Amino acid sequence: MSKAKKFLIFDILLLLVIGGVVYMKGIPLDSLKKDKEEVAIEEEIEEEVEEIQEIAETTPETASEINPDEWDLILVNPWNAIPDGYLDTVETVYTDGGYLIDSRVQEDLEKMLADCRDVGYSPEIISAFRTRETQESLYNSTANKNDTAYPGTSEHECGLAVDILESGYGGDWDNAEKTAETETQKWLTDHCAEYGFILRYPKDKEDITGIVYESWHYRYVGKEHAERIMADGVCLEEYLGRTDHAENRIGD
Ligand SMILES: [Zn+2]
Repeated sequence: MSKAKKFLIFDILLLLVIGGVVYMKGIPLDSLKKDKEEVAIEEEIEEEVEEIQEIAETTPETASEINPDEWDLILVNPWNAIPDGYLDTVETVYTDGGYLIDSRVQEDLEKMLADCRDVGYSPEIISAFRTRETQESLYNSTANKNDTAYPGTSEHECGLAVDILESGYGGDWDNAEKTAETETQKWLTDHCAEYGFILRYPKDKEDITGIVYESWHYRYVGKEHAERIMADGVCLEEYLGRTDHAENRIGD
């Protein structure tokens, strides 16, 4: 046997021994497997982090980051009356159809109505700002007291809310399901956030808002908040983290 052959056989035997030991212990296989698993997990984590970052960029701020003292975020509902003195800070102006509205809302409201008309629909305001006296007489003249908000607790009294229907709508105006099917209402629901408005009393939020589904009632909260609220399908109470109540369902 030549020296070279001896070395070759020795090398082969050495490789077989090392290979055998390695195989028996399963070191490379296990570590390789582990590496793959680790990489997969890391990739998964990275994907999840990216996803969370994306969501964080598009979802509303947390309640603690929202300043509830902003004028356009005022919460008025059966459990939160308009604060004393609030109206001293409000200037109302005449708008579409001869109704009064908070002057800070006028431009966006009129632009929304104009754009809605431009695409061929016919929105008509049927109620906007109401004085306390108006709300009182409305409340007193309503047979079922659950159909109207108690004076001092209607958004209409703060000048930030408007009821809009399709002009000439022939059906029961207070049938929210039916009026929601009109083209005007569909357009308003789809586009109101672009003008700073939200559909204030959605169908599935009655227990939280305390108000029955109203497809015609739009509330101004400013464009930034409106876009978030409508995109996320939450109501104002949820957005503000003020859901610690809820029982009756009444009109406004
Ligand atoms: Zn209303």
